[in-house]
Formats: sequence, structure tokens, C-alpha cells
Amino acid sequence: MAEKELSLTASQLQSIIETAVKAASAPNALEKKRLDEELDREKRRAILAVQLGNIEEEARWRKQNSCSHSCNDKTGESVPRGTGRWVTGGQLHGNGEATLICQRCATTWRFKPTHEESEWILNGPGLLGYAPPPLERCLNRDDFMTRPPVPRVEVSQ
Ligand SMILES: [Zn+2]
Repeated sequence: MAEKELSLTASQLQSIIETAVKAASAPNALEKKRLDEELDREKRRAILAVQLGNIEEEARWRKQNSCSHSCNDKTGESVPRGTGRWVTGGQLHGNGEATLICQRCATTWRFKPTHEESEWILNGPGLLGYAPPPLERCLNRDDFMTRPPVPRVEVSQ
């Protein structure tokens, strides 16, 4: 029996080819499962990163707020912030900026001293025992947190 000739229009042929190509490139069940597992892993990794980030933020917050950056002038004992002597030291840079560091907790303040402050720093004891500048004067104020972190993990489905 002779095979019946099939006649197709160009657009029908086009549609058949497209369907075949799509079927060939679609992930099969096993590949789909692997992809899903991969996505799950990615999601878990992202959640873990957020959790680690929260822990780091929390540690940063605690460090910056548990240290008074101050000590008793005679005993060296920690005293409430702003009383006694600042346990700070630092450096005035060539570009006119200064870096002040707490010698106890290593909190760092970067700021631009005024002309008078620069003179005082240069002609006085430098930045040893220098009072930390207010946050709004800090060039690195983004390093400081003004509110406690909210430990929160968002999981979107
Ligand atoms: Zn400190």
C-alpha cells in the first residue's frame, strides 16, 4: 500500500518543528528534580547568609555599645562613656582626614578635623585620648548602627 502523501503548509511545518525543539530541550523529570534541589540549596545558602549577616551585625552592635571607649585615668579600669580618659589613639592623614581607634574594642572613627582641631592635634598629644567625634561628623558613619538589628529571616516561597 502506497503511503499517503502528507501535505503541510509552511506554518504547520514551522509549528511542528517548534514543538519538537521545545520537547527536546525541556528538562526531563530527573533533570527537573536536580534543578529543584539546586534551587533549594541556593535558597538555604541565601538564608544562611542572612542569618550569618544578622549574627555579625549583632556582634558589631554589641561591641560598639558594650565598650565605653573610656577608662579611669589612674586604674585603667573601664568607666562609663565620656568619663575618665578616652582609650583612643589615631592618626592625622595627609589629606586632612583623621582616623581614631578605640584601643580596647578597635571601633574606628574617620573624620575630618576642623582647622583648629588639626592644629590642636598636631601641636598637642595627637589623637591619644581624643574624644570620638559625633556620628554625624564621621566619614564612616555607615559602619555605626543607630538601632539594634532585628534578627529576622524572610523565606519567600
Ligand atoms: Zn571601645
